[in-house]
Amino acid sequence: MSKRYKWGLIGASRIAEEWVVPAINSAPDSEVTAVFASDAHRGRAYAARNHIPDAYETLDAFLRADIDAVYVSNTNEKHAPHAIAALRAGKHVLGEKPMALTVADAEDMISAAETNKRVLGINHHLRNMATHIRLHELVKSGELGSIVAARMTFGVLLPAANRGWRTDSVAAGAGVFFDLTVHDADLLHYILDTEAQEVVAMTANNAITSREIEDTVAIVARMKTGTIVQITESFAIDHANTTVEIFGTKASVFADDVLLQRGGGRIFVRRSGEQVEERIEHINAYDKAVGDFNAAIGGHGSPSATGHDGLKSLKFALAAREAAKTGKSVRL
Ligand code: NDP
Repeated sequence: MSKRYKWGLIGASRIAEEWVVPAINSAPDSEVTAVFASDAHRGRAYAARNHIPDAYETLDAFLRADIDAVYVSNTNEKHAPHAIAALRAGKHVLGEKPMALTVADAEDMISAAETNKRVLGINHHLRNMATHIRLHELVKSGELGSIVAARMTFGVLLPAANRGWRTDSVAAGAGVFFDLTVHDADLLHYILDTEAQEVVAMTANNAITSREIEDTVAIVARMKTGTIVQITESFAIDHANTTVEIFGTKASVFADDVLLQRGGGRIFVRRSGEQVEERIEHINAYDKAVGDFNAAIGGHGSPSATGHDGLKSLKFALAAREAAKTGKSVRL
């Protein structure tokens, strides 16, 4: 017997194959039944490999299929047009980040969802991790006091399999701002429950990306609450853990190894010279994204990150990019 929600994929991507298809299929109420890829032969092979019943050769045919929800995870420049087409065809859409390459396109996605009364979510998966849910709780409960500053490092040596359009294609939205900054911005917005007001940034190129594209970024932002945040992101850093630190007037918290797709990592709360490790029951961030989205389709709550959250993270990344380009601070 088929499950309640049929999902289709726009994009025969690695993220779908490794994380999102398993999450959709393991949910009690959803399954992947269709895929559309720009290359029909690759789409059919992908469908066979992932036990997806139907592979479509055109977007129009895919959108006419009996599908409730669409996961858009092709290259970044296609997110907005394909999400809008799916929303207009009456599908709910879980889009990948960055939700679009421009604010205007992101706003059009939100309007298309509202006009067609469909659910729109963006897969900012970091906020679904147990570590970050705990950081959010620690901030919200007041246990840390008022938040003076925060620091985040997201440095990886980009694996060869992830190079290509992500490192070399300006048209496809390559570079750190669209790949890592949007995620980090969303996570900060979520944990600190505020938005950035002003951003400065610098970039570098360590020959991981094409010359005109940044592979390393340092950002300083002032949030609306007055909290100062520092973010270092890179495709060129090996031998380091990803980290988040929040510095409060009553206590500080250090979260180690917490920004990778697999989840995991540890959290330490520091207070009066003592450090205590928090007990964390880790969960799969993609399972939670799909579970929350399925619930939202059924009228219960909203996706873990909404279109409006995606727009905020995009605005932050574009402001940081503008600040790096001009050498001036940019107000949001
Ligand atoms: P991939 O490079 O695996 O796939 C992206 C697109 O590239 C595919 O949809 C496909 O286009 C095309 N493509 C894939 N393989 C080939 C090939 N062999 N030959 C030609 N074209 C190919 O990208 P990722 O899975 O790394 O990323 C996809 C999206 O997901 C991006 O927007 C990225 O930002 C986002 N992402 C999000 C993550 C998260 O945790 N939220 C993590 C990783 C990525 P088509 O299907 O149109 O044919």
